[in-house]
Amino acid sequence: MRRPLVAGNWKMHGTRQSVDALLVALSQQDWPEQVELMIAPPALYIERCREALAAGPIRIGGQSCAHQAEPGALTGEISPAQLRDAGCEYVLVGHSERRTLFGESDEVVKRKFAAALACGLRPVLCVGETQAERDAGETADVIGRQLQVVLDAFGVGGLAQGVLAYEPVWAIGTGLTASPEQAQDVHAMIRARLALLDDEQARMVQIVYGGSVKADNAEALFAMPDIDGGLIGGASLNAEEFGAIARAA
Ligand code: 13P
Repeated sequence: MRRPLVAGNWKMHGTRQSVDALLVALSQQDWPEQVELMIAPPALYIERCREALAAGPIRIGGQSCAHQAEPGALTGEISPAQLRDAGCEYVLVGHSERRTLFGESDEVVKRKFAAALACGLRPVLCVGETQAERDAGETADVIGRQLQVVLDAFGVGGLAQGVLAYEPVWAIGTGLTASPEQAQDVHAMIRARLALLDDEQARMVQIVYGGSVKADNAEALFAMPDIDGGLIGGASLNAEEFGAIARAA
């Protein structure tokens, strides 16, 4: 019923040369038809990626965007309207690296979500707890708080226009993957929470998992009933591995 999404977040990796090589390798992969595919390259390389991948199934996303759609005096920022203009169809919002390293609050994340929707982008809202929060038994509270601002503004229907990504902070770039059962527990908790507000829409929301997904653990994660694909960091920089992960979805 829900189409799986496999998305690659390239983060701050790549040069023109390495991006071109990766694009050639990506274009040689066999992509599964039933899977929605997206990569989020550094903004500088978006046009290059869009042109190289135009004939294939991979769509393009931004890694972040400004919290307003209108042009303005925001040095260094890229608006969701500009991302759309450059050919993006998605944008990540609230990635844990943005929240912790760049101080993005839930309020700012909500404004980015709103601006992205207003520009016709699908926002990929990232939520997740730190190791300390998990150890303290606060996982559900933390995620509930991260979701609440967006739910207050847009409801479950608004969330369903985007994508939710559960990315436990302790699993990002650490090689520590949540077990399929741990991830499923959180995905099911999120969906149950959404279902209390709107059961029908809750069943439509794509919830993808992110955090050290690799070719050898993707299949077990994606087999879980509430895991609708993945948001892939490091492993998305290797076309063969990203292809294998997509075929596991
Ligand atoms: P890794 O797959 O490198 O752990 O990164 C996950 C992530 O942050 C994707 O947004």
